[in-house]
Amino acid sequence: MIRLHTYIPKFIAIVAAIAMSVALPLTSYAQSLLRDTEIEEILRDYTDPILRAANLNVSSVDMYLVNDKTLNAFVTRGQNIFIHTGLILEAETPNQLKGVIAHETGHIAAGHLVRRDQSNRSAYGSMLIAAGIGIAAILAGEGQAGASILAGSQQFGVIDALAHSRINEASADQAAAKYMEFTGQSGRGLLEFFEKFRYQEVLSNARRYPYFRGHPLSSDRIDKLREITGESTYRDVKDTDEEIAQMAMMKAKLIGFLDAPQTVFSKYPESDMSKPARYARSVAYFRAADLKNAIKSIDSLIKDEPKNPYFHELKAQIYYESGKGALAIEPLKEALRLKPDAPLLKVSLAQALIERDTPEDNKAAITYLKSALQEEETNGFAWYQLSQAYARDDKPALARYAIAEQAFAMGDYNRAKSFALRAQQGLAPYRAQKRRANDIIVIADVQLAKQRNRKR
Ligand SMILES: [Zn+2]
Repeated sequence: MIRLHTYIPKFIAIVAAIAMSVALPLTSYAQSLLRDTEIEEILRDYTDPILRAANLNVSSVDMYLVNDKTLNAFVTRGQNIFIHTGLILEAETPNQLKGVIAHETGHIAAGHLVRRDQSNRSAYGSMLIAAGIGIAAILAGEGQAGASILAGSQQFGVIDALAHSRINEASADQAAAKYMEFTGQSGRGLLEFFEKFRYQEVLSNARRYPYFRGHPLSSDRIDKLREITGESTYRDVKDTDEEIAQMAMMKAKLIGFLDAPQTVFSKYPESDMSKPARYARSVAYFRAADLKNAIKSIDSLIKDEPKNPYFHELKAQIYYESGKGALAIEPLKEALRLKPDAPLLKVSLAQALIERDTPEDNKAAITYLKSALQEEETNGFAWYQLSQAYARDDKPALARYAIAEQAFAMGDYNRAKSFALRAQQGLAPYRAQKRRANDIIVIADVQLAKQRNRKR
């Protein structure tokens, strides 16, 4: 399931529309974050070995997928890597995408990050909250990104204003080549990628892809990269067939969700019976409200690969978002059986169970959500779902506590404190939650005092 994750204020009108329906198919909202277990897994598989090669702690580097067609990738303080969907779609091979990720990792490892203006940051942060980002979070499912990242950048695109000096770029290229060598992979993907976009250099800065505004492609830079990647023992190592197939599926999924259905049908015509084509068309059919063909396409994929959890997940999403939530439950259970440690699958299953709304469903949903939240404790969407399940299970204090957590995860400290206070009296039998509600109140007070000081 691809889930829309975060909004910028320009799209508040869309947030209001979304308030009527919990999970929407994606359309072309610019610059939101996307969550999807399959794509996140592929990106982590690409990235984690590179992080290890850079001596970085895999679990402290977070990756975010930005719904933006422009080609871009960037890193921010706190070891966050942002990948635009446009980068994935423009990369021709897994090796090219890995090369770019290795280059960005080089910036993180060397600490090439520039301080941003603190005062702008906080002003923007409060504006977001005032504009109702809390509502967006409830509906869109907020992760670690939270208000802090949004607050830090008016648009994700402007982060590329980070001054990338020529020296920093050369050092990130060299680091990338080293990491690729260390992991037994070729560094040539990065070189190919730069060569492919060499023409961008003749465009004015404004017409370039954001990535090439921050990363000027001089000839000596490319020559140097050609030299060091050419020296590697692994220079001719190719992507495996499996990696190539996986990338084709990732692209098909993104295109299916992000392009207009008509565009999808022309990119993947009916005559194309490959797996990526059937995958993309299945998504496009359901977005075009053709439930019959959507299910037919995904069922044909399930027949070919019954053990692929993401096919079952997509089938569930098609049913859920076509208003047949009860039919989503079995495919989601199957997806989760095939991929037991995926928090987002647990959240989706819980959502479908809550909608069916029997006492057993609500109890099961609570179990799935608590388990998902152990892995993603700042997943605001999961906290919101948990509050719904508790409310239906007649546990109002726990429901308020879950809302306090959801607001806290979003950085909305006023709301977090208010719900934690209201939850407290009723939480006496739940000691762990009561302690946690106290912590939320204390930390929220500290954060609110900081915000007041900044405003002075
Ligand atoms: Zn760079």
